[in-house]
Amino acid sequence: MKPTHIEHLGIAVKSLDESIPWFENLLEIKCYAIEEVKDQKVRTAFFKIGQTKIELLESTDPESPIEKFLEKKGESIHHLAFAFDNADQALRTAEEKGLILIDKVSRKGAEDMNIGFLHPKSTHGVLIEFCSK
Ligand code: ZN
Repeated sequence: MKPTHIEHLGIAVKSLDESIPWFENLLEIKCYAIEEVKDQKVRTAFFKIGQTKIELLESTDPESPIEKFLEKKGESIHHLAFAFDNADQALRTAEEKGLILIDKVSRKGAEDMNIGFLHPKSTHGVLIEFCSK
């Protein structure tokens, strides 16, 4: 099952208040949405470049995965998200190929997308997200 495009690139940041104006200045593109995803203890901000987005991720809780990531690696690229027609089917196919999944079944992410993560242990160290509308 092939992805249709790169949906977004997730970047972990310490502060959206600081990062949003910085990216707006760099890209000359306005942030079009800020959304809290309670389930993942993050606040996200989106920029659209063609059909691909940049997703800035700010932790809202000291125990969140983004907080842990920031402690370990600092601000950096956090994940790469591929768009599929059906994220669940793509996750199943990946599992059949022997990849380790963090999410066997998709859950609701930002922008009401169905999202699921593959474990970086089985993806050359890159946290990969599969998503579909
Ligand atoms: Zn994402």
